[in-house]
Amino acid sequence: MSEYTNVSEIFGEDVFNDTVMQQRLPKKVYKDLKHAILEGKELSPEMADVIAHEMKEWAIEKGATHYTHWFQPLTGVTAEKHDSFITAPLPSGKVLMSFSGKELIKGEPDASSFPSGGLRATFEARGYTVWDCTSPAFVRHDAAGATLCIPTAFCSYTGEALDQKTPLLRSMQAINKQALRLIRLFGDTTAKKVTPSVGAEQEYFLVSDKNFMQRKDLTFTGRTLFGAMPPKGQEMDDHYLGTIRQKISAYMKHVNEELWKLGVTSKTQHNEAAPAQHELAPIYAEVNVEADHNQIIMQTLKRIASQHGMKCLLHEKPFAGVNGSGKHNNWSLTTDTGVNLLDPGITPHQNIQFLLVLSCVLKAVDRHAALLRESAADVGNDHRLGANEAPPAIISVFLGDQLTDVMNQLITTGMADHSIESEMLETGVKSIPEFMRDTTDRNRTSPFAFTGNKFEFRMVGARDSIAPANMVLNTIVAQSFKEACDVLEKAEDFDMAVHDLIKKNFTKHQRIVFNGNGYSEEWVEEAAKRGLPNIGCMVEAVEALTYEESVSLFEEFGVFTRAELESRKEIKYETYSKAINIEARTMIDVASKQIIPAVIKYTKNLADSVNAVVSAGILDVDVQTELLRDTSALLKDTRDALNHLKDVAKTAADMEEGKERAFFYREKVMPAMEALRRPVDELEMIVDKEIWPMPSYGDLLFDV
Ligand code: ADP
Ligand code: MG
Repeated sequence: MSEYTNVSEIFGEDVFNDTVMQQRLPKKVYKDLKHAILEGKELSPEMADVIAHEMKEWAIEKGATHYTHWFQPLTGVTAEKHDSFITAPLPSGKVLMSFSGKELIKGEPDASSFPSGGLRATFEARGYTVWDCTSPAFVRHDAAGATLCIPTAFCSYTGEALDQKTPLLRSMQAINKQALRLIRLFGDTTAKKVTPSVGAEQEYFLVSDKNFMQRKDLTFTGRTLFGAMPPKGQEMDDHYLGTIRQKISAYMKHVNEELWKLGVTSKTQHNEAAPAQHELAPIYAEVNVEADHNQIIMQTLKRIASQHGMKCLLHEKPFAGVNGSGKHNNWSLTTDTGVNLLDPGITPHQNIQFLLVLSCVLKAVDRHAALLRESAADVGNDHRLGANEAPPAIISVFLGDQLTDVMNQLITTGMADHSIESEMLETGVKSIPEFMRDTTDRNRTSPFAFTGNKFEFRMVGARDSIAPANMVLNTIVAQSFKEACDVLEKAEDFDMAVHDLIKKNFTKHQRIVFNGNGYSEEWVEEAAKRGLPNIGCMVEAVEALTYEESVSLFEEFGVFTRAELESRKEIKYETYSKAINIEARTMIDVASKQIIPAVIKYTKNLADSVNAVVSAGILDVDVQTELLRDTSALLKDTRDALNHLKDVAKTAADMEEGKERAFFYREKVMPAMEALRRPVDELEMIVDKEIWPMPSYGDLLFDV
């Protein structure tokens, strides 16, 4: 029997949220903190002391013994260093529990072990974590007890960003400023703030603990490096939105409860396309909070899985041959008065502000397509993008019939005088209710699709932080807004000027709009004709970070300095090299120590059987000898491929860090890995299951 959950009672119970602050903080302190959160005003040290004290008291009541600054360095995961609240013992031998404003605001973890991409010499180890009061603190309960977690930004001694959060916060300031200028032009004088709102849908796989532990590739790299396809994959489409099995729904319930307590609005859950694949989507939130929440979601999915005898795989491509996992990033812009700037209304052709915003987004995405593509580049995502299961690696925008029609009217006649209206949905069944269908169908193949009142950026990888993608989106759109406002604020005839600008933006950037099938070969050719970049992999994508137009964009809006961009590039190359190096070494290890010995054992069994059968007087041993010959041939192929992989992996490991090495991994090591996988997967189809040294794809995907 499942226990009844009172959601409204548990929701946010472990969060130092507005209600708690209002209850606990003196009125004046509460007001100042709200100002700091909403308008970026600075807090005085005295105020910080009061807040820290109340936070500590509250956390202790929740069972916390420690606090930690929780941050997102460029390692791909979050980091934390725990301190207990205790003070030095008093003369009586007792200790007090204390937490000061200084400790709340600033931490000083040794930064030398985090990636800095050359921003900092190793001996200059100082780094700071700085309280981000716009994302609420929370108490996390785990096996080790309870910890007060304080979301923080992480930067170097000289203020350079060493994390995902700092640039995201900077980009939010940039778009806020420019969006406010834009809405003022249209007469909005009340809104004080414009924030990007984001809802990130998280895909993941679940496998059984037992199977996972028997696969070194999953353990070390998060994906399978060997594995033949089972007789059944996802071709029946029977997993997507299928009935959720009891074991999985118990897990989802547990995950939801944990997330709700932490104030994460877990809302939607369903089975995804591949067997053993699922999705969780929260209700959208301010992008900064959403980026933190997404990290909490990923951690919670993993932690709770272990408690249910499973492992949660967040890798973008855990299995060849079935769909990988991504993170659909739904993005819109909302004023503090609740207006969504991406809401077209019922008659978009008359909504001039919306059309301007839309044309600015098209301009931004067309101009910085490579940068946006880069923002979703990570090692695992290389297996996904462009593989007919996820968006292609080419950036384009899906607008749908209605908006494309409005755009085309503007481009061709200079006037948009109508919007395609929605029609009744005709099902031919009298007993089911009638309703107006949407004005446009969905398009699942587009990387950047307009979906009613938001854009859905579908490229982000399942394991990746959503911060870079949103940081880029915010900044490139801020730039388009700025350029629009620079013209419009000076215009003598505003109506005329805005009309001209919208037409100009649409005309110049219409090539980025594509409503067709993004998976098709024709699109690849068409996109090339249109001059749209098609960037196949992470190591190629990285270059976009330091295109001249990227550097000037980021510098102008105070999001990155050139040095920070250079450093991020270095980090990405290194991350790539290290990840592929681990994969190559894992393959070498598994092939040498598990696969080849198992196959030798199998061939010995076959040879013994041939001898036994012959000595029993039966001369027809064709089947056994043929198997033996095939197996031995594949065994030889395996050994040759293994030796080749060892050679190139060694060459790569001896190279100097940087771009050239990353490309070597991509161009030489990856193909050598594929060459080793081929004969091994064939052997798996031949060799006795009892002898094969690890669980098969069939076991992993269907025996969860
Ligand atoms: P889909 O059918 O695309 O899979 P889901 O319901 O799974 O849709 O997820 C849609 C996501 O978009 C949710 O996280 C939702 O909260 C979010 N979302 C809805 N409206 C907006 C908006 N205006 N801005 C940003 N995100 C939004
Ligand atoms: Mg969804």
